Amino acid sequence: DSQAALLELHELEMRFGGITALRGLTYEVPANIIQAVIGPNGAGKTTLFHCISGLLRPTSGRIVFEGREIDGMLPNRITRRGISRTFQHVALFRSMTVLENVMLGRHPRTHRGFLSTGLRLPGMRSEERRIRKDAEEYLEFVGLSDARGLPAGSLPLGKQKILEIARALATEPSLVLLDEPAGGLNMKETEELGELIRRIRTRGVTVLLVEHDMNLVMEISDRILVLHYGQRLASGTPDEVKDHPAVIEAYLGGE
Ligand code: ATP
Repeated sequence: DSQAALLELHELEMRFGGITALRGLTYEVPANIIQAVIGPNGAGKTTLFHCISGLLRPTSGRIVFEGREIDGMLPNRITRRGISRTFQHVALFRSMTVLENVMLGRHPRTHRGFLSTGLRLPGMRSEERRIRKDAEEYLEFVGLSDARGLPAGSLPLGKQKILEIARALATEPSLVLLDEPAGGLNMKETEELGELIRRIRTRGVTVLLVEHDMNLVMEISDRILVLHYGQRLASGTPDEVKDHPAVIEAYLGGE
C-alpha cells in the first residue's frame, strides 16, 4: 500500500571477515504493526537488530527510520530518534530496584545534554519526580507495580524480561526491537507476553520481534519476514508465510 514505511532497509550488508550475516537485505516495515523476523540459527536476525540499534555499523547499505538515515549513528542517538530494544540475554542492573531500572530508561530522552554536563538546573527535583512518576506508569502498564522496590536481579526470569520491555518503552520509542522475549518463559508467561506486545502496538508503538516460539509469532504478528542466510526468503502475513513453498522447503524438507 501507499503508507510511508517507518523503517526501511536498503541493500543492507553485514560482513564479519569471511562470513556474510546480512546479504543485500531490502525490506520495509510500516508503522503500527507487529513485525516478526524469523529464520534458522545464524540467519542474521540478531545482526539485523544490532545494525538497526547502532551496535554494529553495516558494511554497506542504508537504514532509514522516519525518513532519515540512521546507519552509522551511535546507539544513544538512535534511541533519542525513537528506537529502543531489549536483548536476548537480559541486561538489567541487577542490584538496583525494578523502579530504578525503568527510571534509567527514562533519562536519556528527557535530560538530553544536561545530566552529562553535571549541571543541576532549577526544576531538577520536579523533573526527577516526573521521571519517577512516568516510570511507575510504565511498571503499571506491564503489570510489575508490585515489584517496584525489589532488586531487579531477584525477579524470576519471566519478570526480568518484562522489566526489560518496560525499560525499553520508557524511552518513548516509536519502534521497539524485542530480541527473543519469550526465551525461557513458560506457557502462561508467554501468553501474557503476547498480550503485552499487542497492547504495546495499541499504544502506537511499532514492534519488531525476533522470536523462536512459532506459536507466539503466528498468533500475534501482522507480518513476518523470513531470513535465510542473511537474505529474505519470504515475507507476508502469518498465513502467507506458513504456506510459502520456500519456507516449507527450508524448514521441513530439502536436505
Ligand atoms: P540465532 O537464532 O542463533 O540467534 P541469528 O539469526 O540471530 O541466530 P546472527 O547471530 O545474526 O544469527 O548470526 C548470523 C551469522 O553471523 C552467523 O553465521 C554468525 O556466526 C555470524 N556472526 C554474528 N556476529 C558475529 C561476529 N561478531 N563475528 C563473526 N561472526 C559473527
